Amino acid sequence: MGILEVKGVGKRFGGLQALGDVNLSVQENSVHAIIGPNGAGKSTLLNCLVGKLIPDTGSVMFDGNSVLGRKPHEINQMGISRVFQTPEIFGDLTVIENMMIPCFAKRDGAFRMHAIENMLNEKELFEKAEAMLSDVNMADKRGMTASSMSRGDKRRLEIAMCLVQEPKLLLLDEPTAGMARADTNNTIDLLKQIKDERDITIAIIEHDMHVVFSLADRITVLAQGTPLVEDTPENIKGHPKVKEAYLGE
Ligand code: ADP
Ligand code: MG
Repeated sequence: MGILEVKGVGKRFGGLQALGDVNLSVQENSVHAIIGPNGAGKSTLLNCLVGKLIPDTGSVMFDGNSVLGRKPHEINQMGISRVFQTPEIFGDLTVIENMMIPCFAKRDGAFRMHAIENMLNEKELFEKAEAMLSDVNMADKRGMTASSMSRGDKRRLEIAMCLVQEPKLLLLDEPTAGMARADTNNTIDLLKQIKDERDITIAIIEHDMHVVFSLADRITVLAQGTPLVEDTPENIKGHPKVKEAYLGE
């Protein structure tokens, strides 16, 4: 049994079958990559795991409990944190303020902007946020306005905003998309560090094969809403179906 068990998940948008019959088992403390061409249904699948979309068919079990029918903030409180495909930080707030919001949200199940002033007075949350910033080597950026940071640092902040919630499962949707090579390599190093130091499971959607092969223990290839193959990175590299459908060889 994996920490995440997806069985027979299907999702249709009008006439488009975005997900057919998805089965996926993610083992605890592993890094599981989901790859596949654009439009394969990767983000749709992720959205079904976090309550942003409700699948038409199938089941999603996390840590022995069904996530279906639960609201996104409830699923977050169960121990799943995610980074979206497009960055979702609060640009007008400082780095440390951005870090405190997910702490607050996890504890209280919701967050209201007018609560920011109270939030900043919560010493325990503040210290937790600061400690996490140090862990990801961003302590020196704590007072910066989030919008003024580089793309790479914004991504790092987003990952830190997830980690500060101490999730059991971290979901990443193309964390290195649009990054320069140096930032991509920094992200790989950060994720390796997280994987080694924490009791955490990571499911990552990623286009960059260098990132995938640097991090993944298992890889699922999704094509047209259906898993084509699931295997180790070594076997995926040489798989004829994968070469044909995805790597373009
Ligand atoms: P991927 O992340 O693998 O690139 P997506 O999950 O974003 O793919 O999309 C899968 C398919 O579903 C695409 O054809 C996309 O256009 C379609 N799709 C995704 N979200 C919606 C939506 N909210 N409404 C209608 N169609 C959607
Ligand atoms: Mg996507």
